[in-house]
Formats: sequence, C-alpha cells, structure tokens
Amino acid sequence: MKDSAKDNSTASLQMLRKICEQQGIRLTHQRLEIFKEISRAKDHPSAELLYERLKKTMPTISLDTIYRTLATFERLGLIKKVHVLYDQARFDPDTDHHHHFICVRCKKIIDFRWPEFDAMVLPEGTKNFGKILEQQAELRGLCQECLKKGEGR
Ligand SMILES: [Zn+2]
Ligand SMILES: [Zn+2]
Repeated sequence: MKDSAKDNSTASLQMLRKICEQQGIRLTHQRLEIFKEISRAKDHPSAELLYERLKKTMPTISLDTIYRTLATFERLGLIKKVHVLYDQARFDPDTDHHHHFICVRCKKIIDFRWPEFDAMVLPEGTKNFGKILEQQAELRGLCQECLKKGEGR
C-alpha cells in the first residue's frame, strides 16, 4: 500500500521520464496518461479496465495501444503483471515485493506484506527446478464484501 500517493506519483513520473530517455522511448501523451492511470490505481486493473477509464478523457485511445504500452512498461520494470486470473492479465503499479489475496468471486486483488514468508527457506527439491527468482504467496478466498452479500457458498 502506498500512503503518500502524491509524493509517490511525482517520484514515479520522474522515474518514467528518466527510464524512457535512457531507453530511447518517446514519452507520448498517451503513454504518459496510461502511466498516470495505472500508477494511481489501487485495484490491479486489467488492460480492459484501464481502457474503460482512459477513454473518458481520451476518446481516441485504443485498447491495442494500452496493451502495447503496458507491455513496454512491464519490460522497463515500471509495473508488474499479475499472472493469476483466469482470463485477463492484471497490472500492478507497486513493483516492490509483496503478496496478493485474490477474491475468487469478484476478482478483487488485495496487497499484503509477509516478511515471515519471505524469510522462509524453500524445500530442498526446489533447487532442481532451476533458479528461483521470486518467492510469492497467493491467497485465494472470498473478500469481505462478497461474504456480506451472502455469496460465500
Ligand atoms: Zn469479492
Ligand atoms: Zn499487488
């Protein structure tokens, strides 16, 4: 969770400008707006959801542009792709190591930190898989809202 959203967004915009400059990527108006939208999103939006939000202010933007831009941002390490949900990829502006709770009903994703998990030693056999890059937990269940709606069966 980001507490000081404002400071963070200024800092991440500066980072975006710097990285684009270094990588020779032109920071178009559309790319900038997509970045701002994903940066302030707290709900790990899909490309489709970002499209719905962005086309209100940018009627000419295409879903394809959003896909390609998100792929670029991911390659640059500015966002992360959450490889979890059934049909749509979801994107995370928080690239710091953290874990996810996923509601299987409404597909809400909630971030949490778990230092004890991070410190856990992996089972011996996992060495045979190759090189482990990240140790990430994913909890699945029903969120508070879905439970309240009595859909928890
Ligand atoms: Zn839910
Ligand atoms: Zn997250």
